Order: sequence, then C-alpha cells, then structure tokens
Amino acid sequence: MSGLPQPELHKDAKFVFLSDWDGTITDKDSNDFLVDNLGFGAEQRKADNVKVLTGESNFRDEFRSMMQSVKVPYEECKEVLRQNIDLDPGFLEFYTWCKENGIPLIIVSSGMAPIIRAVLEKLVGVAEASQMEIIANDVKYTDPEGKGTTWDIVYRHPESGFGHDKSQSIIPYRSIPSRPTLFFAGDGVSDLSAARHADLLFTKVKPEGNTDLATFCDREGIPHVNFLDFRKVLTLVKEVVAGKSTEQVIKENQ
Ligand SMILES: [Mg+2]
Repeated sequence: MSGLPQPELHKDAKFVFLSDWDGTITDKDSNDFLVDNLGFGAEQRKADNVKVLTGESNFRDEFRSMMQSVKVPYEECKEVLRQNIDLDPGFLEFYTWCKENGIPLIIVSSGMAPIIRAVLEKLVGVAEASQMEIIANDVKYTDPEGKGTTWDIVYRHPESGFGHDKSQSIIPYRSIPSRPTLFFAGDGVSDLSAARHADLLFTKVKPEGNTDLATFCDREGIPHVNFLDFRKVLTLVKEVVAGKSTEQVIKENQ
C-alpha cells in the first residue's frame, strides 16, 4: 500500500500555519468522542494511549483498534459528531485573519477527512469548509453495498507508526528556496512527529483536554508556547508577522 498523495506546497508564502484538528481547532477530540461513546470506552482508550506514550505500541495500531471498536455506520458517526463538536473560541477570528493576510492555514489530522469536512460544514458553512485545506487520513467502506455500514480507516502513511506522519507536511517547506516561517499547533500524541520541525510550536493546554504534546516537549526540551485557545495564537502570530523573531516570541512566552 503506497498511501495517499501529498498536496502541493505553498511555495510563495512567507508564513505557513499548520494545525492539528481534534482538540486543537475543536473544543474536544472527535475520535475520542466516538470511542468513548460508541466504541470500547474511555478507560480502554486511555490505557491504549499510555502504551503509545511508553513506546510499548504505536499510534497507528492503537488508533485503528479504537476506530474498529466503533461499530456504528459511518454516516451516523458523522451526524453524532456534527451535533457534539464545536470550535475553539478563538479559531474563527484566527482563520479569518489568516485568510485576509494571505497566510495558508492547513489542517493536518490523524482523523478521517470526510468526518472533518462534515463537522466543518456544520460549523463554518459548506462554502467556507470547501475552501479549507485538509491533510488527513481517509476512510473505506467495507460493507458489500458500499454504504458505510462497516468501515475502516485508510492511513496516509501506512508504513509509519503514526499512520499519518505529520512531519511530512512540514519538512518539505524547510528545503524550498524562499522558506516560509512555519507555525504548528497541536495537543496530543498524533502531533509528536511534527513537534520538532516548526519554527514556532503552539501546544494547546486545557484543564479538561489533552496535554500530551506539551508534556512530551517539556521532557524532550523542544521549545514551545502553551495556549488555552486561539486568541493567544492570533496575538503571537501577529507579532511574528510584524517582524519579531520566533525565538523572541518563544522566550517571552515560556
Ligand atoms: Mg489533537
């Protein structure tokens, strides 16, 4: 299996913002929501995540088993998530500002693109959602009728232990002649591969949310800036665009 094709780079952009979707742009993780409510439950999910963090297992294999525990038709999953997932309170303002200032904002997700689109359409409208760039995993329907009564996740990078190696969306930018300043925002285990490759890494830290990425960066000594919601991200990205160095921003916001 060769995986899914990588989209074109934004070669002329001065700044590129890449962001995790679940729990970063959204108020809660949609995959966790599916597993906790329609699959094998939160207790086993959390135990499986510990296995990934300790290196006993990898994200790709544990995430697939979580998804396979959700024995609900795909369309129903989409609808449940459309009813239960909301945006980070500062995201729309941030997204609008990026758009007005010609800064590509790319959603980089270990979730499945059709679910992300369905939720986005509910949250920002069909027209706006269709313009948003999403690099994610996909789904295949496995029932004989092809209706999605049963389904399976299709990984972007099946050979990678991450299933979708998010670093592959950042690293190519580092070698183009007019290399843009690279921002990445994330919160969890699926973002570990991308953490080292951004110029300014934002780690979402919410009291009731996932803080695995921030914990990992502290442990590994990877410079990062914690944030509660995208209002802070907007303030700091504006500072960089106005000329402040990413090193300085990190130093001031440790
Ligand atoms: Mg996440």
